[in-house]
Amino acid sequence: MGGPAVTLSFDNGPEPEVTPAVLNVLRRRGVRATFFVIGEKLRDPVRRGVAERAREEGHWIGNHTWTHSGPLGGRSDAGHADTEILRTERELGPLAHPDRLFRPVGGGGKLGPHLLSEAARDLLAAGGHTVVTWSAVPGDWRDPDGWPPTAFRQCLEQARPVLVLHDLPNGAMRHLDAFLGRLQDSGATFRQDFPDACLPMRRGEAGPGLGDYVQVPARPPDQAG
Ligand SMILES: [Zn+2]
Repeated sequence: MGGPAVTLSFDNGPEPEVTPAVLNVLRRRGVRATFFVIGEKLRDPVRRGVAERAREEGHWIGNHTWTHSGPLGGRSDAGHADTEILRTERELGPLAHPDRLFRPVGGGGKLGPHLLSEAARDLLAAGGHTVVTWSAVPGDWRDPDGWPPTAFRQCLEQARPVLVLHDLPNGAMRHLDAFLGRLQDSGATFRQDFPDACLPMRRGEAGPGLGDYVQVPARPPDQAG
């Protein structure tokens, strides 16, 4: 029996101080990943250039909202989902993976109905998007030196982990190469695609788990029943 088949993802970039070094590590180790980028960061030509390099090196680029200002589930204001999702998609342009990968903002890595509003769900379905969740969140953004053992344990206890790391300038990615080496030494392999369990929507088609990630507003009492 082999070890887990790990899918790597890097959220919240691209960051010129960090992402190029992450790309160097991935290239050296022959690993392909997905970068879920923040739309407004791509308006900076330097950051956009980093995302272009990632795509040229075989990585996938996904949409991680325009501003990353919080989970979409609680936002009922008209136009919010449009801005966060569609504006990023337009900014991505040809960088976007053909399946139009979208990763909701988790707000601390939690999964639940806070991830999407009904408006966001409908927009994603109409646009043929693929919603990508996760199954391993070691908290590298809050524990830049302590995350690797947590990530290692989370990956080894699953057959098909989808690991979320962040290419942010907090020093955490200094440990990436050693972490990947430790995983490989333990028998883990890497693959770029996502397991069904982390795809509640695929090219606009709702999967059975999608309802777990959509906030349904409470009905006013006079309409109940
Ligand atoms: Zn994020």
